[in-house]
Amino acid sequence: MSKKKGRSGHPGGIRCPDCGRRSVRQQLVHDPTCPAAQAVEAIVAGDADWFASRPDAEHRCRWITAAERMEMPTMADREISEKSVIHVARIGPGVRARSLYVPGEDRIPAGVIGLFGHPSTFTLIERDKGALPRTRRAALPSGLQVQMFTLPAGVNASGFLADVDGLVVLLPGDALPVPFA
Ligand SMILES: [Zn+2]
Repeated sequence: MSKKKGRSGHPGGIRCPDCGRRSVRQQLVHDPTCPAAQAVEAIVAGDADWFASRPDAEHRCRWITAAERMEMPTMADREISEKSVIHVARIGPGVRARSLYVPGEDRIPAGVIGLFGHPSTFTLIERDKGALPRTRRAALPSGLQVQMFTLPAGVNASGFLADVDGLVVLLPGDALPVPFA
């Protein structure tokens, strides 16, 4: 993808469909009453609750929400895929950082479920729930990890949850998320 200019159609940046404000220099400042901005506040509160109930967890990966897809493109002035992932890191008491991961080139093969998240998340799950089956696992350049589980015959991949305890569940054909750049 070109990093140069040449994106047409957004002369004034991204426009919020709720409050009508436009991004300026990759910052979108919503109207204080904007529902989109309030939805992002709800996401932040949701992450806070998630970490409050998991005092040992320092990382959470989850699918991007509709409100974040509205918020985050303002960093890039472009649309963000709904198959993007948010990595939330606890960096201090009550302080968290959100990082955006977008679909990359590699895809989850047929017949396989991928769990995607921070290595410490896998460690916590194994501590609390026992060892996961032996799988293909790959450490990714981003510092996150994917573990691939072969689906038993007759098990439908679409029956799996979207995310589990801070890991995102990738179905066959889903792209492996890579850091937004
Ligand atoms: Zn708005």
